[in-house]
Amino acid sequence: MKLGKYSFGVGDRFNHQGQAQLRALIKANSKGVEVTPVWNKSNREHDIVHSEPEGTRIEADEAVKTLGWEEAYCVDADHINLSNVDRFIEHSDFFTLDVAMYIGNESPVENVEAFKKSCAVLGGEVNIPGIAEPIIVTDALLDEVSGKYLAAVKEAGKIYRHIESVKGAGNFVTEVSMDEVEEPQTPVDMFFIMKMIADEKIPAQTIAPKFTGRFNKGVDYVGDVEQFTKEFEQDVLVIDYAVKEFGLPEDLKMSVHSGSDKFTIYPIMAEIIKKYDKGLHVKTAGTTWLEEVIGLAISGDEGLVVAKEIYSKALARKDELCAPYADVIDIDDAQLPTADEVEGWTGEKFGNTLRHIPWHPDYNLNFRQLIHVGYKVASEMGEKYTGLLEKYADVVGSCVEENIYDRHLKRLFDL
Ligand SMILES: [Zn+2]
Repeated sequence: MKLGKYSFGVGDRFNHQGQAQLRALIKANSKGVEVTPVWNKSNREHDIVHSEPEGTRIEADEAVKTLGWEEAYCVDADHINLSNVDRFIEHSDFFTLDVAMYIGNESPVENVEAFKKSCAVLGGEVNIPGIAEPIIVTDALLDEVSGKYLAAVKEAGKIYRHIESVKGAGNFVTEVSMDEVEEPQTPVDMFFIMKMIADEKIPAQTIAPKFTGRFNKGVDYVGDVEQFTKEFEQDVLVIDYAVKEFGLPEDLKMSVHSGSDKFTIYPIMAEIIKKYDKGLHVKTAGTTWLEEVIGLAISGDEGLVVAKEIYSKALARKDELCAPYADVIDIDDAQLPTADEVEGWTGEKFGNTLRHIPWHPDYNLNFRQLIHVGYKVASEMGEKYTGLLEKYADVVGSCVEENIYDRHLKRLFDL
């Protein structure tokens, strides 16, 4: 199954914005940049919202049919492992094998020996075109990389073969992800991870490493931009080399799990993939949910009441809601407005505080991150929430479309 050179992951918590999201992609395509839409939803999200993978499939199929989309599209079983993949298999055609939790696990001695033996063909030094420093292959380095990643990639192999046994080879897209960890993977790590993926015969089409810096949910990148630029460029070169050297799928490309809205580094990634004529997959998640809340807030009375209720409840349950996302949010409590303060806000003020326009004087990234993890509150509201999404579908939908097109796709694909 082909994914296309550029693809964009649109997460949608409540399955109501498929058409609005697709409209944004159609707009990009009409400007000459073909971007494949991928509807991604993780197991964690399904558990929190009490939804099933079938819902994402129905949403995607309906949006595609209604808007007459004739190009490829995918439904991504995002961040799955062997324990939960089965609920996704029938409904998905893109699988993000999350093996981050196996990083650092011990491997049987014979596996390590086999890996080290297979690296003999590399010789003592690997020179990757475009990268000044060669990789010096020593016994110690092979011990280090196998100690970190071999068990994880072996696990990815197990998950891959399980899915393949049901769906058949070539009928789905495979991504290997290791992004939800503290320690970033260096380009040298990436090189050996790719070698292991090839040894394991996983036909990976996208790979999602952990990059240097903070990728907090729904807010901009925090970190050393220069270092990110260097590593991202080297990763692209490593992938290119590994594809040729190890016989990995030709269309293998980088997947950036952005936690949404990494506007600072979007143009950097855009420039590098353009420079080397490479593909890119960018996965977003909560950015659409935040636009729903903005849309409700600005659509007036009823919507604004619910938007305020979501905030006040999220504030009261902050610790509980933040817990599953502890590694990927940084909220400064002192910067959070009180529920009483927010009670007095207009819809416009609420929207401006939440909308991701970094230079806007009302924008508050702490407020935004709290609402980002607050979707559980909306899910508990049930039809009270989704009923309003339907009632105000036009306003909400145009917020979603504008966000994906103007703030994301334009920056990423230089539109
Ligand atoms: Zn991720």
